[in-house]
Amino acid sequence: MFRANINKTRTRIAASIIAFLLIVALGIFSVSWQTSQGLNSDAQERLGMAVQQVDMMLANAQKAAKAVEPYLGKPCTQDVVLELRRQIAIVPNVRTINLATERGKNIYCTALFGPRSGVIDNNHYVDNRLLLMSGNEITPNHPLIAFRDLHGENSILIGVDGYYLHNILNLLSTHSQMTLQIGDQWMDAQGKVHKTDNNNMGERIQRNSAHYPYQVVAFVHHSSHWRYVLDYSPISLFLFPMLGLFVGFITFMALGRVGTPLAMIKAGIANQEFIPYVQPVVDGTHHQLTGCEILMRWQHPQMGLRPPYHFIPLAEESGLIVEMTRQMMAKTRDVYAPLATQLPDHFHFAFNICASHFKDFSLLQDCKAFIDAFKAKPIILVLELTERELIVPSDTTDSLFKALRRLGVLIALDDFGTGHSSLTYLQKFHIDFLKIDQSFIGRIGTDALSGHIVDNVIALAKRLDMVIVAEGIETQTQVDYLAPYRLDYLQGYFFGKPMPPEEFIRQWLELKR
Ligand code: C2E
Ligand code: CA
Ligand code: CA
Repeated sequence: MFRANINKTRTRIAASIIAFLLIVALGIFSVSWQTSQGLNSDAQERLGMAVQQVDMMLANAQKAAKAVEPYLGKPCTQDVVLELRRQIAIVPNVRTINLATERGKNIYCTALFGPRSGVIDNNHYVDNRLLLMSGNEITPNHPLIAFRDLHGENSILIGVDGYYLHNILNLLSTHSQMTLQIGDQWMDAQGKVHKTDNNNMGERIQRNSAHYPYQVVAFVHHSSHWRYVLDYSPISLFLFPMLGLFVGFITFMALGRVGTPLAMIKAGIANQEFIPYVQPVVDGTHHQLTGCEILMRWQHPQMGLRPPYHFIPLAEESGLIVEMTRQMMAKTRDVYAPLATQLPDHFHFAFNICASHFKDFSLLQDCKAFIDAFKAKPIILVLELTERELIVPSDTTDSLFKALRRLGVLIALDDFGTGHSSLTYLQKFHIDFLKIDQSFIGRIGTDALSGHIVDNVIALAKRLDMVIVAEGIETQTQVDYLAPYRLDYLQGYFFGKPMPPEEFIRQWLELKR
């Protein structure tokens, strides 16, 4: 039983840990998902902001281009140069303004140097409008976007300062790296312009500008997204471990409860939790030990020792009592058979049985096994049937009783006086013992009428000429009152309470030898 309990507790702990881990795993998945979602939507939001800012800068460039458009194709006079310079001064983010012919190949007028002549390679303009440059001739290490405004053969070239651009990228690069992509060139948040493939930077989320041919790209690193869990799922981080603990605890408790009372009894049978308690029966004259009654107890792992009224009615009704009695008989046998020679002569063991036991013949085998175990010194096996629920005679009961009789088993009618057994009934079942119900014994000495009732019951029992047992004797008064009747056996707390088999051995077999 002890081992079964340990195993059960282990199973409960294991199941609770599994439940806890499942919830935590679910939590990890959920936290990871929330963080990913958070990073993605955060990146989307930042991309929107970046595009808005870059669009605004390019719109400024376009504005400057519009302002100098009237001078395009005209000679690069002092006035024109001044106007170009004025635009640089008043339009934000614009660093250079050049006028060019031959579709931008030939720059003929610049804000910085005035009239000049220089051929540039214009093949890389994306969509004929934008070019990302790591620097120009004046500031070679300072990135910029060249914005081209084409007007037939002529064009206006505006340089937009990269400083502001990478500042924007830098500011928005929390949790994910932001880059600005124009054609196959891209600028990182530090302002460096690259041409190499950047796909290894993480998951790519991009936003195209609706107005200009560029994209802002955010790279989300899902492998390192655990760094951000606290930002995106702080509640889950706390909630799931708590939920795991709670579910683990509930699982542990739920597995501890076996469920319905019937399921609990079944589990009790499986775990061998039903045990015998032994109450001594003494002879009516010298009060010497002559036998015992075996009373069932349920050693419940959580609820402790349960008395019979908690479970016997359901056990009898469901038929589970048969298996429970079998286990109890076996346990009694295992304890006392090795001590058979220490038992008094003609010692009897009385077991309580009920109607369920008469459904088949298994009782017979159990009785035989019990009797056979005491070959060293034979004992008397008594089966107690209560008068409260009389057994309905049938062919099966008839042949079972006959077989029991052949085996030498004696039958006692328990709780005599509380039911309605007739003389024919007593003869049909070959009743050997009558156990006068303890309610009558309890009335002894209370009043004259009660005394009269007790006298009548004893007289009735005596008339039936059977072995009489008085049970429920608690006081000396009761013992004295019964003495003149010379009853065969006496049983009650006065002589000994029901006790564990080992204690019965100590109190009644070892000390009293
Ligand atoms: P029962 O067969 O009439 O058993 C006698 C009951 O009276 C026992 O209660 C016993 O502990 C109690 N008793 C004995 N001496 C005294 C006394 O001096 N004063 C008082 N107040 N009580 C005393 P227990 O063990 O609680 O059993 C109650 C009933 O449960 C039994 O009544 C019996 O009907 C049933 N029962 C017990 N064990 C089994 C069993 O193995 N199988 C079946 N079918 N029924 C059982
Ligand atoms: Ca009994
Ligand atoms: Ca009784």
